[in-house]
Amino acid sequence: MLDKIVIANRGEIALRILRACRELGIKTVAVHSVADADLMHVRLADESVCIGPASPMESYLNIPAIIAAAEVTDAVAIHPGYGFLAESADFAEQVEKSGFKFIGPRAETIRLMGDKVSAIASMKKAGVPCVPGSDGPLGDDDNENLAIAKRISYPVIIKASGGGGGRGMRVVHSEATLLDSIALTRNEAKAAFNNDVVYMEKFLENPRHIEIQILADAHGNAIYLGERDCSMQRRHQKVVEEAPAPGITEQMRRFIGERCVEACQDIGYEGAGTFEFLYEKGEFYFIEMNTRIQVEHPVSEFISGVDIIKEQLRVAEDQPLSYKQTDIEFKGHAIECRINAEDSETFIPSPGTITVFHAPGGPGVRIDSHIYAGYKVPPYYDSMIGKLITYGETREVALQRMEMALEEIIIGGIKTNIDLQRRIIQDANFQKGGVNIHYLEKMLAENKKLEDVIL
Ligand code: ADP
Repeated sequence: MLDKIVIANRGEIALRILRACRELGIKTVAVHSVADADLMHVRLADESVCIGPASPMESYLNIPAIIAAAEVTDAVAIHPGYGFLAESADFAEQVEKSGFKFIGPRAETIRLMGDKVSAIASMKKAGVPCVPGSDGPLGDDDNENLAIAKRISYPVIIKASGGGGGRGMRVVHSEATLLDSIALTRNEAKAAFNNDVVYMEKFLENPRHIEIQILADAHGNAIYLGERDCSMQRRHQKVVEEAPAPGITEQMRRFIGERCVEACQDIGYEGAGTFEFLYEKGEFYFIEMNTRIQVEHPVSEFISGVDIIKEQLRVAEDQPLSYKQTDIEFKGHAIECRINAEDSETFIPSPGTITVFHAPGGPGVRIDSHIYAGYKVPPYYDSMIGKLITYGETREVALQRMEMALEEIIIGGIKTNIDLQRRIIQDANFQKGGVNIHYLEKMLAENKKLEDVIL
């Protein structure tokens, strides 16, 4: 049994994990930086330990400090949340070596999925559809690289195997620039990730981002909790997510869900995870796996009725999953808007003190947020201050509730992206459903042009 765990994160996800622990009677230790003593979950946790200065390098990324906090509080496990150390195989390894349970997959699984070339190879082996490409790292033979690009046909994309966060990628439209682009991406990858392995994929021009949530336990059981559409992105950052994805049929869901489940069993996956796909013209193409809880997990919780964090904790206790695939029935529709402390037009972060906070409510409205009136948003971390999620028996109802909730919510004292979220939710094409990953950037560019005309 997990008697007491350390929550090695901050903000809304730390509070979300704390709530799941409280429901299960698990004691919690909040570890926080000097700048975060006033976080909501720090106040609610059974114990708290300050692990260092505001700078993430010295606190939330400080492995020895986090492990020491687990030692002094007699905790038995560490939940990494998302971001920070959540996908660090070294962290998972050190946690386990120090005698604690890492709440997530084994370090070797994180390592396998963290390297894109090895992740794609293991997915292909398991029968998961991948983007046509070089099938492994690109070598030094120019003629061979030119031939690969010709075979998959332009445009192609050169990607760093060790890349992440949308960095280490370059699109190539014709043969003339291919070799230079490979060399450039290789150099950048070496400098940024200390790994010069690059590979090539077909560049899909207008895909949607659709991902599959999975859960797997240490006893070989795995299930899928349906898909999420996260195509509404700005600079590769998701802004709005929904489940199910508009236009995906039960048959397609089952096909891709079952491939992901088989892949989990193949690699001995444990815990919650997400398979990310690009989706174009009716086909799914695997791009990467996230070996952790994701920001947008609540939309899947709404439509499946499963508490994903509680299942993570069960799996960490070596218990079997609470559900079999046949227990899972997808019902209704859920939408999530990320609420950021930033200007709706310029996207410049807006830290500072929240003077007023009024939370929306009513049927099918969920807020996952750590903010309160008087809370000071620090400037040192990600600008997301919460998530507003609505549910309805249909997509229309979920949208309507989101529109109302975005009208009701009041956050005073700092700037937020709530205006932008209102524009997105009221956008005619978004309302139709199924826009691609470039849509939001185009919508923002159009708005900008209109404004320039008016001015
Ligand atoms: P990261 O780990 O840096 O997030 P991903 O492999 O997930 O890298 O890719 C990030 C984004 O880059 C994708 O969401 C998509 O917008 C774009 N992208 C990646 N691969 C392709 C591709 N083959 N075709 C078109 N776009 C791609």
